[in-house]
Amino acid sequence: MKKIIIAIDGFSSTGKSTLAKHLGYVYVDTGAMYRAVTLFAMQNNCIGIDFLDKEKLIKSLPSIKLSFKFNSELGFAEMYLNDVNVETEIRTLEVSGFVSRVAAISEVRSKLVEQQQEMGKEKGIVMDGRDIGTVVFPNAELKIFMTAGADTRAQRRFDELQAKGDLVSYDEVLKNVVERDYIDTHRDDSPLVMADDAIEVDNSYLDRKEQFDVVLELVNEVINSL
Ligand code: C5P
Repeated sequence: MKKIIIAIDGFSSTGKSTLAKHLGYVYVDTGAMYRAVTLFAMQNNCIGIDFLDKEKLIKSLPSIKLSFKFNSELGFAEMYLNDVNVETEIRTLEVSGFVSRVAAISEVRSKLVEQQQEMGKEKGIVMDGRDIGTVVFPNAELKIFMTAGADTRAQRRFDELQAKGDLVSYDEVLKNVVERDYIDTHRDDSPLVMADDAIEVDNSYLDRKEQFDVVLELVNEVINSL
């Protein structure tokens, strides 16, 4: 069967790695890459309590190596920063608090976009982010734009963090979600916007299985039309 590129943008949702697995596709969570660069910045004093030293981070970019390694027990690829597994560290609220400011730096974006385009060369990929259908793969065969209310998304993130034993409050998570939405949609370079040819899916009231079914139907329609 012909392989396509599936670009999923917008706001967080669930079940995308399951979709990739079902199709035999590679799943790439590009948010993890921006999170890993943010973690690097925190570990290397480019970020402090109230500062972000952009110049220092830009100079350090050549020493940042990002890779994904598939974990068969978990069923998804984990993020590695300079060959160290950082999957847990990148999901903290501390990283979430800085990531959108790091992701607004053009030099950071061009490095990651180049790597993402390379990963999609063979197609057969589900890539999830904020600029996949607009910048990374403007010619993707299927573009989906996921939306959901900020409170729904905050509740999902809060539940995930709680399940990991992270002691955060729902209000803190909601504040972070709203702040990141604002920065992501207002930055100069590659702001979060829906591509003209994307299909909007509001997943506020869809559970994991329902989201999977909706997206799979869209994928089948595209594949059958090729
Ligand atoms: O998807 P996730 O919430 O983990 O993404 C974290 C952050 O990374 C986003 O809020 C956004 O600032 C940035 N990001 C981006 N472009 C992408 C993916 C994520 O700017 N393609």
